[in-house]
Amino acid sequence: MPVEEVLVSLHSFVIVVSLVMGLLVGSFCNVCVGRWPHGESVVTPRSRCPKCMNAITWYDNIPLLSWLILGAKCRNCKAPISWQYPLVEAITGVLFVAVYLRFGLTLATPVYMVMAAAMVVVTFQDLADWTIPDEITKTGVPIGLGLSVVALLMGDESLLVTHPFDAILGIVLGFAVLFGLDRITVLLMKKPGMGMGDVKLLAMLGAFIGWQGVLGTLMLASVLGSTIGLAVLLYFRMKGGAESADVSTVPDDERSPEEGDESTVAKVAETDEEDDDGISLDHRYLPFGPYLAIGGLVYIFVGPQVLAWYLASLTLPY
Ligand SMILES: [Zn+2]
Repeated sequence: MPVEEVLVSLHSFVIVVSLVMGLLVGSFCNVCVGRWPHGESVVTPRSRCPKCMNAITWYDNIPLLSWLILGAKCRNCKAPISWQYPLVEAITGVLFVAVYLRFGLTLATPVYMVMAAAMVVVTFQDLADWTIPDEITKTGVPIGLGLSVVALLMGDESLLVTHPFDAILGIVLGFAVLFGLDRITVLLMKKPGMGMGDVKLLAMLGAFIGWQGVLGTLMLASVLGSTIGLAVLLYFRMKGGAESADVSTVPDDERSPEEGDESTVAKVAETDEEDDDGISLDHRYLPFGPYLAIGGLVYIFVGPQVLAWYLASLTLPY
């Protein structure tokens, strides 16, 4: 067998392995999203149907396939199984393949695969529970810093951060930017600011992608946030005034134009919160976590290239 053929089949094999690993890790991500908000262990007990409490057998717990075979229903009680499970599994699987295709057989591939899975958990937990797990952010900071030391010692060039100095700058900048923004919003504007979860998330991302990555992620997250926020706003506007009043607890004239688009998403989830006229930092923050998570991931894939292109385009012709 010629060398090229061996390499091609090795390549295909690693793609399949990446996909299967991604699907399995995605299945574990579902467990994390479901249990971390309640302070439950993600190791034991076995997954149960939330309705009939029947333990789910291994053959009913195969990523994607079981959901399809069972027709999105519990085998025992026929309660519907959320499409979120196969979605999380599929996204994680696709991300694992994408990371391998982007970084090949390097140290960066396993690192960014875990990172991708962590960002999937952050996104879905923040959307569902309005929290960002400390298990990921607080654990991620020392891991990212440690990896930068490993990269320095090994002379690795595949990671985005290859020097502890860059990792520390990333952590500090990530923390400082959002913490500062939070304080300004709360103290000066008397409005709910960022959640501390977002602050810790950007600090953790900084450990993995450095200070340039923090700036790149903020830019990407802002663009994503305003685009999606605007789309949501237009959607509710188009659905008519009555329904848009349902999702808003704040009169239109109290919203500043710049934050109006993003806060619409926040208010959808706020309607059942009691308004105590105080600033509840726990519940009334802008949902920035998913945008930061997606921004950080996009940065890992194309950030340095886009940044170089952007800087080059700034060069004046003289
Ligand atoms: Zn059931």
